Amino acid sequence: MNILVINCGSSSLKFQLIDAVTEELIAKGLCERIGIEGSQLVYQPTGKDKITTVTPMEDHTQAIRLVLKSLTDETSGVVKDLSEIGAVGHRIVHGGEKFASSTLITDEVVQAITDCNELAPLHNPANLIGIAACKELMPETPMVGVFDTAFHQTMPQEAYLYGLPYEYYEKYKVRRYGFHGTSHSYVSKRAAEVLGKKYEDLKLIVCHLGNGASVSAVKNGKCIDTSMGLTPLEGLIMGTRSGDIDPAIIEFIAHKEGKSIDEIMTVLNKKSGVLGLSSNLSSDFRDLQASYEKGEDAGIRTMETFAYRVTKYIGAYTAAMNGVDAICFTAGLGENSSFMRDMVCSRLGYLGITLDEEQNAKRGEDLVITTPDSTTKVLVIPTNEELAIARETFAIVKK
Ligand code: AMP
Repeated sequence: MNILVINCGSSSLKFQLIDAVTEELIAKGLCERIGIEGSQLVYQPTGKDKITTVTPMEDHTQAIRLVLKSLTDETSGVVKDLSEIGAVGHRIVHGGEKFASSTLITDEVVQAITDCNELAPLHNPANLIGIAACKELMPETPMVGVFDTAFHQTMPQEAYLYGLPYEYYEKYKVRRYGFHGTSHSYVSKRAAEVLGKKYEDLKLIVCHLGNGASVSAVKNGKCIDTSMGLTPLEGLIMGTRSGDIDPAIIEFIAHKEGKSIDEIMTVLNKKSGVLGLSSNLSSDFRDLQASYEKGEDAGIRTMETFAYRVTKYIGAYTAAMNGVDAICFTAGLGENSSFMRDMVCSRLGYLGITLDEEQNAKRGEDLVITTPDSTTKVLVIPTNEELAIARETFAIVKK
């Protein structure tokens, strides 16, 4: 069965068509600038050249219509007609406390996702538009929602509660939810396979280091803590998000700079992180590494502060699990930057970690990058959220 995986952002839409049985990628692509001038679709059937179509896309329904047209096109298409797409898997960012696992999308589920809009105002409405567009264009095709928050729903109360009046949790469900769950789940399960151990017997720390970044502690096959919170703003220093700060800074800066709460939130989400810390040098770690290597203060302070925060979370989660068997790196930075992995791991000697330089220099595959005598293993596991969504979708629709 072919599964269409859809990841809708506010003005973008990423898709992959995956054969759920062989797990082969059949085609993939991206619609950009939806609803904005200059919108385009980049479509790539596996093994063939990319096709870029610059065409107006007023909304997500038009974007999905174009995607379906590309997939069924007589010359560059990969399926004869839409009946060859057995199901659609949607990435949904926030499932609140309602969704601890993936689910078949019904009208009730759409309502429950809508109820979570307040918790993810930038993401959930876009995800819902994607669902509505697919429903309109492929009304008979089953759809499954796969939630970024679901994997973290196993966290115990002591990990998800904040030190706030409890009534905020009771009334508004203010608590830690965590994100990137599909990636943390995929990577931790794959790590167990690479280590040749049972998932349920392991204590793992997953560092998903990309433009958005989060760490999770996975003990005996269950997430017991994660660094992102009510929203994806908490935790590690990210591309443009601040991560953890003293909440009193908000009031302090509001007074100093005469900014409103909304303006401060924009600063924390879009102008902070490594971008802000490097005095706007870049949010891309390749530029920051280059700056570090040139001996520039901006690159040095940014890379070191980022690495320190990751190391601190690893220490905290080692304590939370009373030990750790393996630390896994994934996502854009985690998978590609041997430099950052080295910076983090060089601070973890107390865990009996020695990096194997040759292994650490490799890319694009599952790797153990510690020497055989290291007591704690370090792995690089390329994440594959689309495949994880296709697997979840297939498991639900084949029932
Ligand atoms: P993601 O959000 O997972 O797509 O990751 C994107 C981030 O990965 C970018 O901001 C880059 O800073 C980082 N990245 C990608 N490739 C490399 C690389 N070769 N070296 C360092 N950082 C990289």
